[in-house]
Amino acid sequence: MRVSRFYMPLLRETPAEAQIVSHRYMLRAGLVRQASAGIYSWLPLGFRVLSKIEQIVRVEQDRAGAIELLMPTLQSAELWRESGRYDDYGKEMLRIKDRHERDLLYGPTNEELITDIVRSTVRSYKELPRILYHIQWKFRDEIRPRFGVMRGREFLMKDSYSFDLDAAGARRSYNKMFVAYLRTFARMGLKSVPMRADTGPIGGDLSHEFIILAETGESQVYCHKDLVDMPVPEAVDFDGDLEPIIRQRTSLYAATDEKHDGDTFAQIPAEKQLAARGIEVGHIFYFGTKYSKPMNAKVAGPKGEDLLLEMGSYGIGVSRLVGAIIEASHDEQGIIWPEAVAPFRVGLISLKVDDEATRKVCEDLYGKLENAGVETLYDDTEERAGAKFSTFDLIGLPWQLIVGPRGLAQGLVEIKNRKTGERQTLPPEAALNFLTRKS
Ligand code: ATP
Ligand code: MG
Repeated sequence: MRVSRFYMPLLRETPAEAQIVSHRYMLRAGLVRQASAGIYSWLPLGFRVLSKIEQIVRVEQDRAGAIELLMPTLQSAELWRESGRYDDYGKEMLRIKDRHERDLLYGPTNEELITDIVRSTVRSYKELPRILYHIQWKFRDEIRPRFGVMRGREFLMKDSYSFDLDAAGARRSYNKMFVAYLRTFARMGLKSVPMRADTGPIGGDLSHEFIILAETGESQVYCHKDLVDMPVPEAVDFDGDLEPIIRQRTSLYAATDEKHDGDTFAQIPAEKQLAARGIEVGHIFYFGTKYSKPMNAKVAGPKGEDLLLEMGSYGIGVSRLVGAIIEASHDEQGIIWPEAVAPFRVGLISLKVDDEATRKVCEDLYGKLENAGVETLYDDTEERAGAKFSTFDLIGLPWQLIVGPRGLAQGLVEIKNRKTGERQTLPPEAALNFLTRKS
């Protein structure tokens, strides 16, 4: 993509309303624009990141055996009356009437709708277990939307729902999502820690939140330090026994504020105690028959008997992750995107667009990078070199490829690693080889 043709509206000033660094950088780098309180438009750069995160989430869900579908944002109130949550959910639910005075709502979550789909389509135990998921916008009329996309009112969530015949099966589904979550966040360059958590309005009795440690996080959390750097399971057989992986993570203490037990925590050796702030990026629940019972969701068992579905649900804050990744990875100059979610991999910076030699080398490199499938943002504008450098540091692409007349006089261009600041000077062909090799 050429900067001259791209749409990347940057802000020069730091917006006064942004209290935390991710929100500041998201506005300054033109990732999002507030449409109204807690509701954002995703501008091209931000949308590219959001889509990459979404795709990582999708691939890891599929790998774990979950199946994607898509449910609507608007739901009928009828289903929520069946489960009893229509009145319970309170003011966070956005309630809407259609022209026939029928009650609708903008879905804050989808337990009722998916239960309705499954109860009317799945008849026999032979069709289970199943984990179904979608990636869809949610609306929760949060009392205090803040920190940009971290606590929005409209936000993108991946939510999965598991259906099993018994508690043991439901536990296996829970474990699959648990392990899938560890892998998902690691692929985005994040260290997540699963912690015992409260179930809130979703209900149930077994629940973990996946927390990214960050000073600006809204959750107070307590855990054993060894959990933070525990390696992520690589080649996982999702049909095998996942209990050992789960046990390794859950035998060490980790809890959010609501579930915190000071006495147990105090038994951890002092140098291993970690009390910190964290960002909740995922939350998984096992709640058994909480929805299947009132909604009468059953299948026929092997002897023809009726079995109530055993269920769990599993959320990931896809749009919140954009902010969380920036909180975890930035410096004074701007964002430092991990490669897997970067909007482009390489920023190609022309230092002098009216210099013929520079132009030729840039065009050549740009064409070859694009051909090799390396996503490149090519700054072909007449902007000053200094301004280009600060723009590219701000938007945080992993690599900068810098081309100017002075270097070219000696046949050289420069590569800068955004994260480490390391620079290397080398001939254009070598730079190309370096940037096109598989990382
Ligand atoms: P929180 O405690 O932060 O309000 P929650 O427990 O109500 O979140 P869940 O119902 O567990 O949220 O939703 C699943 C995931 O969706 C959360 O782990 C979080 O990452 C994300 N999420 C929830 N509320 C918001 C929001 N207002 N803005 C952005 N993401 C959100
Ligand atoms: Mg939660």
